[in-house]
Amino acid sequence: MRIIVAGGDGFCGWPTALYLSKQGHEVSIVDNLVRRKIDDELHSNSVTPIATLEDRVAKWKELTGKEIKTFVGDLNHYDFLAEVFKQTEPDAFVHFAEQRSAPYSMIDREHAVYTQSNNVIGNLNVLYAIREFAPECHLIKLGTMGEYGTPNIDIEEGYLEIEHNGRKDKLPYPKQPGSFYHLSKVHDSHNIMFACKIWGIRATDLNQGVVYGLHTEETEMDPVLANRLDYDGVYGTALNRFIIQAATGHDLTVYGTGGQTRAFLNIKDTVRCVEIAAEHPADKGEFRVFNQFTEYFSVQDLAEKVQKVAGETGLKTEVSHIDNPRVELEQHYYHAVNTKLRDLGLEPNLLTDEVIKGILTAALEHKDRVIKENVLPSISWK
Ligand code: NAD
Repeated sequence: MRIIVAGGDGFCGWPTALYLSKQGHEVSIVDNLVRRKIDDELHSNSVTPIATLEDRVAKWKELTGKEIKTFVGDLNHYDFLAEVFKQTEPDAFVHFAEQRSAPYSMIDREHAVYTQSNNVIGNLNVLYAIREFAPECHLIKLGTMGEYGTPNIDIEEGYLEIEHNGRKDKLPYPKQPGSFYHLSKVHDSHNIMFACKIWGIRATDLNQGVVYGLHTEETEMDPVLANRLDYDGVYGTALNRFIIQAATGHDLTVYGTGGQTRAFLNIKDTVRCVEIAAEHPADKGEFRVFNQFTEYFSVQDLAEKVQKVAGETGLKTEVSHIDNPRVELEQHYYHAVNTKLRDLGLEPNLLTDEVIKGILTAALEHKDRVIKENVLPSISWK
């Protein structure tokens, strides 16, 4: 297949591009490299040193003989995107290219506006480009489990059958997102659903849980192929952030009581889920939703798991509770369905002590790169 990986220079996109290329697909990366510029804005960095996109794809070609084309540009520039579609004629468009940090979207008005315009308009341009240049192309869009929030009922995969005043219908599952970033994903989902209905586009919305880990078989082939690993209070996600805190002798900082429960998956499963979606395209006009996660944990559970593994490695760490910068329930019901990807063949890489130890080893190797002032959260929702 000819596959575009938009956001292919990022944490999820880079390993996905490599994996799909290894499987024999013709992969093109589209990325405006804004994530690297945001590191400069935040005076932050990836714990792992990351090569330029140019060097990354050159190394991949040297090691495997496979070419990944790159298009450096912005989804918000429709002329650029149109040219990419004309040159690549994609069968599938994997869309990772969004601003994905909830705290970043909550910094101030400017960052909320940037997040929503970057994400919502970029995605709208992709929908128009598919309609105009590649109507058969399957859109595989990264959504998030955070779109649903934490309702007091089971979370279904995209749709909910309800009975109201004696009548029944299957309706989009209600969304209660917790940041302007998560809201941008909800707006995207609505736009995609509408485009599927009116233009017959085929789309899969992957409502992904929080991704942990950094290595895949492909990124481990050479240091130039290494993936980024975020740890700061803005882009670092729970688990990866705790592991890096443990590696640098920092307390594991749980927000509030730590009862917040979220869905998680290993980066190795992210790449496989995208492959599964690509191999089983949605029908024409279908807006399909998969919940893409393998397990859920409370934040307190995760901190304790990391503390245990760190202890076995000879690192003494404390779990500390700090004021929660977010507005969210700290004790709540959480049960989400995730059978569709499993039914199509996903075999999960579960969170074992070995997996935590593997990420910890990588974090220890580069711990001198951690900028300590960036570890604690600095952005408040209020
Ligand atoms: P990331 O920030 O590491 O990567 C995103 C990439 O997209 C970056 O390389 C960035 O430069 C690029 N990009 C952003 N806006 C662009 C634009 N307008 N045009 C072209 N390129 C642009 O993020 P990630 O962690 O790899 O996440 C990828 C996707 O997966 C996001 O849509 C995110 O919402 C979703 N997701 C991520 C997680 C997670 O835990 N990382 C969880 C759920 C969902």
